[in-house]
Amino acid sequence: MPKDKRHGFGEKKMLNISISNIEKKLKENFEYLDSIQEKNFNKVLESFINNKISKDFFLESTGYGYDDAGRDIIDKVYSEIFHTEDALVRCNFLSGTHAISTAFFANLKPNDELLYVTGMPYDTLHKVIGITPCSGSLADYNIKFDYVNLKKQKVDSYESEIEYFDFDSIKKKINNNTKIVVAQRSKGYSIRHSFSSKEIGELVKFVKNINQNIIVMIDNCYGEFVLESEPSDYGADLLVGSLIKNLGGGLCKSGAYIVGKKDLIENCAYRLTVPGQGKEIGSNFNQNLNILQGLYFAPQIVNNALKSALLLSNVAMELGFEAFPKHFEMQNDIVCAIKLNSSDKLNNFVQLIQKTSPVDSYAMPVASDMPGYDNKIIMACGSFIQGASIELSSDGPMIEPYIAYTQGGLSYFQMKYFCKKWVESLNI
Ligand SMILES: *Cc1c(COP(=O)(O)O)cnc(C)c1O
Repeated sequence: MPKDKRHGFGEKKMLNISISNIEKKLKENFEYLDSIQEKNFNKVLESFINNKISKDFFLESTGYGYDDAGRDIIDKVYSEIFHTEDALVRCNFLSGTHAISTAFFANLKPNDELLYVTGMPYDTLHKVIGITPCSGSLADYNIKFDYVNLKKQKVDSYESEIEYFDFDSIKKKINNNTKIVVAQRSKGYSIRHSFSSKEIGELVKFVKNINQNIIVMIDNCYGEFVLESEPSDYGADLLVGSLIKNLGGGLCKSGAYIVGKKDLIENCAYRLTVPGQGKEIGSNFNQNLNILQGLYFAPQIVNNALKSALLLSNVAMELGFEAFPKHFEMQNDIVCAIKLNSSDKLNNFVQLIQKTSPVDSYAMPVASDMPGYDNKIIMACGSFIQGASIELSSDGPMIEPYIAYTQGGLSYFQMKYFCKKWVESLNI
């Protein structure tokens, strides 16, 4: 191999930053992440073995999709992995928001109240709930909404203060109409602590102590397979997430999942399809193979995404930016958030993510309005599956302090490649 090819642009030290030194520093973190991957892989493999997955489950169904054996076995596999009574895994869910919305409409009746305990919900849910008025929203059906912000506080096992559940305020807000309490596990478009399954367990205990009939639901987006346990292992009643994020393993073309208590899942199925038919109807449009094979790859893909996020945050910190997660102990989702402090730096960062992507590398992202989002957003997603954020992707709302939220990475080496280019671009 010619010399210039062998060394490329990587080994040069710029701004006194060496990616390989950062990698050396992260070695033990990466080993820990590998051990998590192995545990989740074993969980997946064992559920495939226990459910006797065979090629027959990969066959396509058509029409009504009655007796779609693959669809039914996927639900079994998911409930085994999450240790829940039931699951509803469907490519007919068009997005994570669609699945969360389904869970709300399925399990809330007029006069019930929905309480978010991790601050305001994810942007795309504002119209679903009716926070931003919209015809057909929960508010239209007289379903009330309230929320409690996280509170900066000292929590055992963290050195400095973190944004954590404000239990006093949660207790005050819970009333006789409170039907669902929701925690969003991942930070979303904010810089804050993302929650571990065990921490969510603390919330579950607290809420059930007040009223054991309240449903504790978790927006689990970006959190799956990040740890060796899931919030359902700590008593959460309903978990929802997208298949073009963690669990799709990069192969799912669309879809989302809901796992949890049997009666709640049945309500969700009645809402997704029709009352009375629920889970028994609906072709999976030849996606059973993708869903199962994607799940098989998911522990490995999430591992690449976690390593990517850790490398990026450490490179950013060495460059003098504030970045999260600071350590792997704080990695409760696959997101890396970097405060870039200027619109130019945010534009440059996101555009460079696009330029170093395998698909649409020549496209130039610009900030624009997005359906469901309140601010102008710049988004890079040079992905095989449109909008899949388990693939390396980055987006940032055009408001101070100009934070780039970066997530995913089917291959760790794409992030490493990006990091080298980013350091170079700042050096010019
Ligand atoms: C991705 C995501 C959702 C759902 O978003 P969709 O784009 O509709 O799939 C909800 N909550 C969080 C925290 C998310 O990251």
